[in-house]
Amino acid sequence: MAQHIRGGIKTAKRYPKAEISLHFIIVGGGIAGLATAFALSLVGHRVTVIEESDGRIQTNNGVTCPPNMSKILQDWGLQSWLDQVGGKVANFRLTAAHSGDELGVVHMDTKYAGKIESDFFFLLYDDLYTLLRSLVDIEGVEVLLNRKVVDIDTHAVSVTLSGDSVQASLKADVIIGADGKDSLVRSVVNSGSFIKEVPTGSEPADPAGLVISSAVFQTKVLTEDPELAMLLEPHLWTLWCGNKYYATGALCSPDLYYVVMFSEVSSNATSAVEDIKNDWKEDLKYGTNKLKLDHIEHRKSESEARFHKLLDLAGDQLRSMRYDGFGSAYLENAVDDSGSVCLVGDAGHPIVPYSWHSAALGVEDACTLLHLFAGIQRHDQIPRLLNAYEEIRQPRWENILDAEKAYRTELAMPPGPARDARDQFFGELARMNSTFEEEDDEVVSEDVERLRMAWIKTMAAYNFDAREAVDDWFSKWGGILHRTVDLSEGVEDDFKTK
Ligand SMILES: Cc1cc2nc3c(=O)[nH]c(=O)nc-3n(C[C@H](O)[C@H](O)[C@H](O)COP(=O)(O)OP(=O)(O)OC[C@H]3O[C@@H](n4cnc5c(N)ncnc54)[C@H](O)[C@@H]3O)c2cc1C
Repeated sequence: MAQHIRGGIKTAKRYPKAEISLHFIIVGGGIAGLATAFALSLVGHRVTVIEESDGRIQTNNGVTCPPNMSKILQDWGLQSWLDQVGGKVANFRLTAAHSGDELGVVHMDTKYAGKIESDFFFLLYDDLYTLLRSLVDIEGVEVLLNRKVVDIDTHAVSVTLSGDSVQASLKADVIIGADGKDSLVRSVVNSGSFIKEVPTGSEPADPAGLVISSAVFQTKVLTEDPELAMLLEPHLWTLWCGNKYYATGALCSPDLYYVVMFSEVSSNATSAVEDIKNDWKEDLKYGTNKLKLDHIEHRKSESEARFHKLLDLAGDQLRSMRYDGFGSAYLENAVDDSGSVCLVGDAGHPIVPYSWHSAALGVEDACTLLHLFAGIQRHDQIPRLLNAYEEIRQPRWENILDAEKAYRTELAMPPGPARDARDQFFGELARMNSTFEEEDDEVVSEDVERLRMAWIKTMAAYNFDAREAVDDWFSKWGGILHRTVDLSEGVEDDFKTK
């Protein structure tokens, strides 16, 4: 299904090369691994990507590219690619799933929580993956396919591949774990341990169970039904808010494909579908195995006609993933003690499948590493730069987990006063759109205040600028970086920057 990659990639931006060229080994060639490989090669580093699959990923599914990600792609000179292959969103229509009533159409650029500085796109996963594969090829990145990393030596900074002896292990200056949510590399960083508690101040609680299903439709199929054709309005993102479920729909490729993601948020959702795995490869298998989803059948009978029709149309191409609560797990450290290994993408922050930020966080990680390692002048600066990465990325990951939980809870509220307040809030938001100006002395209820905070968190997450975060770090700590380091003092002491 991947579209042909047209002019966009020919314009990929050139960056000044770093003063020294390092060798990076990246374990895993998914979105985060490929984006990181491309980013580091842009500033002159040598990169080897090791990927256990044959590299022919065909998911036939959608992925979100929020403004924080589109800004980076734009910075890499890929705006024309985005404009050609992406489904751009300018408005979102909030709809009651049971009745189909419109709760409000909100502009992305509403001034309510600050202007969103870049565009929101839906993409086909295959398009994004194919783009990144092409970019790494153009940049001369070495990609070893069908090779699995089975061991990592942090002191020798080397990896051993399946079937190879330890003597044949591959050495590098830095190892990056981009090996997904069940990361092997995570096991050498901080013993792979997660902190389970949710940091203070974050709310609301993580939903106990979540099953996410997705399907991509050809728009020509939807145009045959006048009710469904209404969904194809350009730049429109429809969100259906249900009782412990929600769904989203948007064009993910101009005029060609429409993607629907359906999320069941309830404590019995995962137990009802035990045979659905939390695994993308299993998900692909299920997509063609006509798995019957009882919970979706049940939702169909209580939802509005368009929602019902979409689920019927999706039939056996609906792909489902279960989520086992790893989104509430925070990693203590994404860089190992020796300062030569770090984690990116789902390896560093496993996130809910089809989440709005899952691909974006991997691309942000890549952008952060690009701008940090563009400034390297000596090998002894590696641990410092990796620790800078840690300082920039950890709070960001935690904010995103927080923001994601907040919006998920708001969209899937059961009937009651809190939901009534939400519906009212959405209506007000839509009426304000670009004209909102907050009254200083305005008194609002606790429910509305919580909704406002959730909204502000969601919007603030879109405006994060990974490059700016690195610039801030350099302006604060760049002086320390360029000081000569006595390595016997250890990395930690040099980095008491928090
Ligand atoms: C097959 C597949 C299809 C997906 N489809 C979608 C989609 O349609 N929509 C969506 O929103 N998200 C999808 N995702 C998830 C999405 O890519 C991630 O949530 C997000 O982009 C972060 O990506 P990542 O690169 O960190 O992790 P992943 O995408 O999980 O990539 C990790 C990569 O590491 C490789 N790997 C793992 N262990 C080793 C090892 N020991 N040695 C070598 N290689 C290893 C894996 O084969 C995989 O390619 C998919 C993931 C996969 C793997």
